[in-house]
Amino acid sequence: APTILWLRRDLRLSDHPALTAACKSGGPVIPVFVNDDQVARLGAAPKWRLGLGLEEMGLALADKGSRLILRKGEALDVLRDLVRETGAHAVYWTRLYDPDAMARDKAVKAALKEDGVDARSFGGHLMFEPWTVETKQGGLYKVYTPFWNAVKTRDVDAPLPAPSGIPAPDRWPASDDLGAWNLGAAMRRGAAVVRPYVQLGESAAQSRLGAFIAHKVADYDRMRDIMAEDGTSALSENLALGEISPHQCWHAGLRAREEGKKGAETFLKELVWREFAYHLMYHTPRILTANWREEWDAFPWNEDENEDVTRWKQGRTGIEMVDAAMREMYVTGRMHNRGRMIVASFLTKHLLSHWKIGMKWFEDCLIDWDPASNAMGWQWSAGSGPDATPYFRVFNPDTQLDKFDPDRRFVRRWIAEGQGNPPATACSYFDAVPRSWALSASDRYPAPVVALADGRKRALSAYEGRNF
Ligand code: FAD
Repeated sequence: APTILWLRRDLRLSDHPALTAACKSGGPVIPVFVNDDQVARLGAAPKWRLGLGLEEMGLALADKGSRLILRKGEALDVLRDLVRETGAHAVYWTRLYDPDAMARDKAVKAALKEDGVDARSFGGHLMFEPWTVETKQGGLYKVYTPFWNAVKTRDVDAPLPAPSGIPAPDRWPASDDLGAWNLGAAMRRGAAVVRPYVQLGESAAQSRLGAFIAHKVADYDRMRDIMAEDGTSALSENLALGEISPHQCWHAGLRAREEGKKGAETFLKELVWREFAYHLMYHTPRILTANWREEWDAFPWNEDENEDVTRWKQGRTGIEMVDAAMREMYVTGRMHNRGRMIVASFLTKHLLSHWKIGMKWFEDCLIDWDPASNAMGWQWSAGSGPDATPYFRVFNPDTQLDKFDPDRRFVRRWIAEGQGNPPATACSYFDAVPRSWALSASDRYPAPVVALADGRKRALSAYEGRNF
């Protein structure tokens, strides 16, 4: 009897424990993706990127003589239908850790088991299952460094090879047409502008990892903060959809470290930041919706989308470093990590706006959107999170520019105004933005929404007397 492989954020063939197990079960394998309400709730860019990822996964499966079946509806209904139509005896999937997915998956598992179906979940999205890492007192880790120390010498499963073949059923169940789902419908900004920045699918992800290990990881610790350099792996886009596994990245990093490549240790540590974000989300899911440290509920956050917030979203704050990074995100669907920290600090400190506003905007704009890393990143920047940067440490965007973009290559790449002959990247921002924003490359660069010294003072006086 067939096994249904329910795919979600695991769009790869290699190092895929659920797929490997399905192939081993002896019967045909029926890969399916379900377009349910959790897909409907995705932000514009992640949903668009998911559509591209599914198309690519369909092709990769076809290469192996298999298919990707697409169905819309509630996951349990769809899976039950498929079990009935195909006579499947089992449904396998890779675990996810956000509260909505966990609640859905738990209910699906219980109901399918009641139907007599072998419903089973597998690891693969994380190296360290969140419940396997705990402090000596038996609780969660709230601070990164002890978390790193607890996992850094663990054995991480060696990546599995892709199955040599995926057994196909005699008759395939019906599938929706991906185009008809129109997953790119909400992509307000020009999808055509963003598309060249996407590196799609498993083989592109493997090439990215290979090139990073060969050419960049040795200097990663030094170069990862230089904003005009491509000094990082850019793998977050692929990790978000499981086009590559963290295990594959980890083992490549370990080998590089053994070869004496100096930056490799830092790369391994960054992979563990991703694990730490999942650890926090699993144990304290409120990190997604509320101040992780409750004292922060009393902080006078501005929660409305005022004019300053609009200018922040549009990359028109008049602060070059902030605007360059916001425009980079608008055009490429990604933002340099240092940029993320700078714009998040600016929104939550200089503009005193709630981190949730920024988190939501990122969720709409990032092709590497990840629920755990995004929430942790925002609460870290705002000061309300575990192991966060203290609120009184206000990043000065001008000082950051001097330090991390000393020759101004990064800001020139993204800000057209005032340049006689602006580069194509800076101009493409004006092609990407919706017409309703009424912006043009020949506009004057805006005056600052707030003088940096005043914004800093305002933030510190809001914080004064609060001993969080
Ligand atoms: P590299 O430097 O090559 O690092 C390798 C991998 O390690 C990354 O792909 C990522 O999986 C992981 N990693 C690196 N830094 C972090 C970090 N600080 N936190 C968690 N994991 C990390 N990352 C996302 O993947 N999705 C998000 O939605 C996201 N939102 C963020 C929001 C804010 C406000 C901040 C400050 C950070 C956010 N990050 C997010 C983390 C980080 O900025 C990105 O992971 C990183 O920029 C991705 O680039 P890269 O793949 O080249 O990373």
